[in-house]
Amino acid sequence: MILVTGAAGFIGANFVLDWLAQSQEPVVNLDKLTYAGNLETLASVQDDERHTFVQGDIGDSALVARLLAEHQPRAVINFAAESHVDRSIHSPEDFIQTNVVGTFRLLEAVRAYWSSLPAEGKAAFRLLHVSTDEVYGSLAAGDAAFTEQHRYEPNSPYSASKAASDHLVRAYHHTYGLPVLTTNCSNNYGPYHFPEKLIPLMIVNALAGKPLPVYGDGMQVRDWLYVKDHCSAIRRVLDAGKLGEVYNIGGWNEKPNIEIVQTVCALLDELRPKADSSSYRTQISYVKDRPGHDRRYAIDASKIERELGWKPAETFDTGIRKTVQWYLAHPEWVANVQSGAYRDWVQTQYAGT
Ligand code: NAD
Repeated sequence: MILVTGAAGFIGANFVLDWLAQSQEPVVNLDKLTYAGNLETLASVQDDERHTFVQGDIGDSALVARLLAEHQPRAVINFAAESHVDRSIHSPEDFIQTNVVGTFRLLEAVRAYWSSLPAEGKAAFRLLHVSTDEVYGSLAAGDAAFTEQHRYEPNSPYSASKAASDHLVRAYHHTYGLPVLTTNCSNNYGPYHFPEKLIPLMIVNALAGKPLPVYGDGMQVRDWLYVKDHCSAIRRVLDAGKLGEVYNIGGWNEKPNIEIVQTVCALLDELRPKADSSSYRTQISYVKDRPGHDRRYAIDASKIERELGWKPAETFDTGIRKTVQWYLAHPEWVANVQSGAYRDWVQTQYAGT
């Protein structure tokens, strides 16, 4: 049994689907169901006995303690977070509450549970904290990619709150001996991504005939990883990672935002040509840059590759094609997310959970 937090969100839900496709081991999924939590993504495992969904907050100490005592997980994987940089600029408070205070409360509950385990259970237990490359700050063109030794220089309320959570996790290992693992991953993309993030936003807006808003000059560079590759990396770290260590996860796919948008347009031109044969590129519209926008992130993933033998299965070309195809094949999922209808769906499908 594993306890996974925030697994109604983009990466957590992909992780649960992946996990249940590969393992018989049950999962308890604790998620607050903020605007970003969408149980419709998990519809295929709704009746699966191996998946138990609990709506709740990682900051609810009593609830987390009860779940740990009841289910006795051998591992906790913490995905739960406020995750959208733009939202953190406009309303940072939720980010502090969930990413900092929530992680602290989760750590306290896990520490109490772990301390109560018999020696064998104690030795086997793991807490894996999922974090981001944004904690390392911004790189200039030509700077070496982030290794695990790079100093923390978070620049947005989002990355600062994630950095604080990483430090707390580290401190609980050094101070209390809690068996933790931390992963810092680059930008994910793939199925079930909420359409406020760059790639799904571009696909959805393009199909709706709306402008494709690109911040500033569009030359901000990010490193992109297909979400299923992130999931396989997390499994690998859980299985073989050294306690207390940090693993950077990335796809060696540095791309400027504008190139991502152009690639999405080219794929749509091929897979869903417009009636008038014009390119979706004509919808690209440059907008005022995000305040404090980091210029470049790049992940050096050689440690996880060398020490744990992990490698991404997808290249950017194969992953982005799969992603565009997925969005074209799932207009209902997109429509429900955009209309908020998935919230009603949750009420009918998961009443009483
Ligand atoms: P997401 O916003 O799609 O999902 C977050 C989930 O957490 C949602 O289901 C939400 O309901 C839940 N949640 C929020 N606050 C909660 C709380 N207090 N208690 C319980 N559940 C709560 O985010 P995501 O993109 O899936 O990211 C998951 C994790 O991975 C985050 O920690 C994020 O920092 C990290 N990460 C994301 C990326 C990326 O590109 N998306 C890259 C690297 C790391």
